[in-house]
Amino acid sequence: MISKTPQVSLTNGVQMPILGFGVFQIPEDQTQQAVETALEAGYRLLDTAAAYENERAVGRAIAASGIPREDLFITTKLWVQDYGEDSTRHAFDRSLDRLRLDYLDLYLLHQPFGDYYGAWRAMEDLNRDGRTRAIGVSNFYPDRLADLIAHNEIVPAVNQIETHPFFQRTEDQKLMRESGVQHESWGPLAEGSRGFFDNPVLAGIARAHGKTVAQIALRWLVQRDVVAIPKSVRPERMAENLDVFDFQLTEDEMARIAPLDTGRSLLFDHHDPDKVKWLGGVRFDT
Ligand code: NDP
Repeated sequence: MISKTPQVSLTNGVQMPILGFGVFQIPEDQTQQAVETALEAGYRLLDTAAAYENERAVGRAIAASGIPREDLFITTKLWVQDYGEDSTRHAFDRSLDRLRLDYLDLYLLHQPFGDYYGAWRAMEDLNRDGRTRAIGVSNFYPDRLADLIAHNEIVPAVNQIETHPFFQRTEDQKLMRESGVQHESWGPLAEGSRGFFDNPVLAGIARAHGKTVAQIALRWLVQRDVVAIPKSVRPERMAENLDVFDFQLTEDEMARIAPLDTGRSLLFDHHDPDKVKWLGGVRFDT
């Protein structure tokens, strides 16, 4: 019997599992199998994006699982090329169609670039019409988030940002808390970069609990009330990453992890003009 993952309450009352499964960089032809295995392992939150070009496979896995729709929490994201009011509505319909769903749980602006104001207005309508139970953003630094909130009606329910022990986002989280925005981590395992899985501090804490470094990192996020969506294509790691609810990090352990923060992105710098330019030109089959 799979125990239910603890949930967080979004500002509009919608419940969201605190731990889910991400499918970035899983090739389309492996995604159905991976998602079916993740659902069997007990994941109920799935995180995909139009830009991952694997929504169809996620949809097939959901259909094959036979899990009641209301037990699942499905997130997908709108890519920059489809921003703007009209294009957003069409892109949303295409994502739903690929996922074989008639509503979403969470629809995110994937990036804070291009006409995201137009896109947000369309997303507000989709939320009001009940076609997506919540709307949110991703990769928004505090200044952009504050601006979006100041000039629109619906406050983003979630901001999904790079967050792991090497980039902890404590200030971002403080501001998000003040505005009622749920912090969600992408790259919770830092994609294994900078010797993540061999880090001596994390490894020491892992040994003390008879857990792995991945489990310590995920537990650390959960204890900070941050939603995490680790990705793995390996069944044993999927199970391992979900098994973080039977122990607790002490205050001392949390304090030992705090100095690992580099205060900067390891994976993608959204303030680098070359990267921003590059992103603006990337096209996907959405
Ligand atoms: P993660 O930090 O989740 O790391 C994934 C990597 O860690 C993979 O190489 C995986 O390998 C490996 N791994 C997973 N579990 C373990 C484990 N227990 N022990 C050792 N290695 C492990 O990176 P992601 O970038 O995938 O982030 C997670 C999700 O966040 C994405 O899938 C996506 O849904 C979302 N995301 C969103 C972004 C955005 O812009 N909004 C950007 C990036 C990600 P293997 O598969 O071989 O197990």
